[in-house]
Amino acid sequence: MVSIAQAMALVLGEVGRMGTERVPLAGASGRILAEVVHAPFDVPGFANSQMDGFAARATDLARARETAPVALPVTATVAAGRPLESPVEPGTCVRIMTGAAVPPGADTVVPIEDAVAEGAMVRFTAPSPPGRFVRPAGEDLACGEAILQRGRCLRPPDIGVLASIGCVEVPVSLRPRVAIVGTGDELVPIGRPLGPGQIHDSNAYTLAAAVEALGGVADRLGIVADDRESLRAMLQEAARYDCVLSTGGVSVGDFDYVKEVMDELGLRRRFWRVAQKPGKPLTFAAQPGCLYFGLPGNPVSAMVCFHLYVAPALRASLGRPDIFPATVEVTVAEEMRTAGSLMELVRCRLEREGDRLTARPTGTQSSGALRSLSLADALVLSPPGQDRLRAGDRALALRLHPAEALSTAHPFG
Ligand code: AMP
Ligand code: MG
Repeated sequence: MVSIAQAMALVLGEVGRMGTERVPLAGASGRILAEVVHAPFDVPGFANSQMDGFAARATDLARARETAPVALPVTATVAAGRPLESPVEPGTCVRIMTGAAVPPGADTVVPIEDAVAEGAMVRFTAPSPPGRFVRPAGEDLACGEAILQRGRCLRPPDIGVLASIGCVEVPVSLRPRVAIVGTGDELVPIGRPLGPGQIHDSNAYTLAAAVEALGGVADRLGIVADDRESLRAMLQEAARYDCVLSTGGVSVGDFDYVKEVMDELGLRRRFWRVAQKPGKPLTFAAQPGCLYFGLPGNPVSAMVCFHLYVAPALRASLGRPDIFPATVEVTVAEEMRTAGSLMELVRCRLEREGDRLTARPTGTQSSGALRSLSLADALVLSPPGQDRLRAGDRALALRLHPAEALSTAHPFG
């Protein structure tokens, strides 16, 4: 038996980097950038007005006062996208629109609200320093600057940043292809009626959804019976994937053949059993180009192992720097009895109470009760040697859905 830290290290030690591909910009959101991106030119490429108003020379306005306005002739109007070729001569100004190029000569913009137009003249009643309401070239992105790092999970504004430099195709990591196999004589696919003693294969669907959420491509290969030959054939077929997730058949039952079959196939098995609850029977093997996770059959155990080991491995293979589960410090809301000898991960709902997050168990902690995981926001850790979490204790928790808000409250209400 290994610790969680040892199991994580053994898994991560086997992870290889996915290759790369180029995808159209519009399809790149959520993908992992495979190369650093530099700005090929300044954005904006020219100094432009931040306001609708008048562009002038700051020196011409230096003496403008409420009591002694400076009046200048308006010699042109500059619209966005239609730059003026000729400079703004001393003692003159131009009307300018937001986003329009500030013409040569002019170095300041006075908003329309602060000036008084009178026929062909405009009166200024205050000075306007150089650079005021002028967005300089390269204000957003400077030519040559590294603007997005390799390994970044591209967010919507990143897509816009790439568009602003005219990027048509983005180099991203290939999505890992993950085979999912359910093992067990009791399993029946959805869409077929359940006979006596049978259950639906839910793991394949939970895992496929989790793989896709991380940017992988999941293939459900179906259900294999608890017999060595079928299992061997299925694992052999799955070897062409980047990663194989089987569930069930890794425990000490009479028909638990997954470990044996992995060994018969010559897969390098790195560990069996981790000092954790749920998910203790996990086994893991590697082969060049393919990781094999023999996940336990219990639905909660399978998913806890996914969060602890499979998700970090997939993130690492994509080249992300943030591979480990997101953590948060919580306050335990009510006493929870825990395993004592193992690291227990307690399914909890998190709630914001003032400036702290409280954690309350979602009900039965049976590793077969998937709803308790469906209701949970986090797994609260109870380290080995500790047989309970007490109300008021501070504890570390792994967030299951870190992108979700923990409150329905109006932030400005
Ligand atoms: P095992 O790890 O094969 O001993 O299975 C442990 C428990 O998980 C048993 O109650 C199985 O019926 C259940 N189980 C195994 N595979 C699945 C699956 N694909 N979907 C839902 N439950 C499963
Ligand atoms: Mg089984």
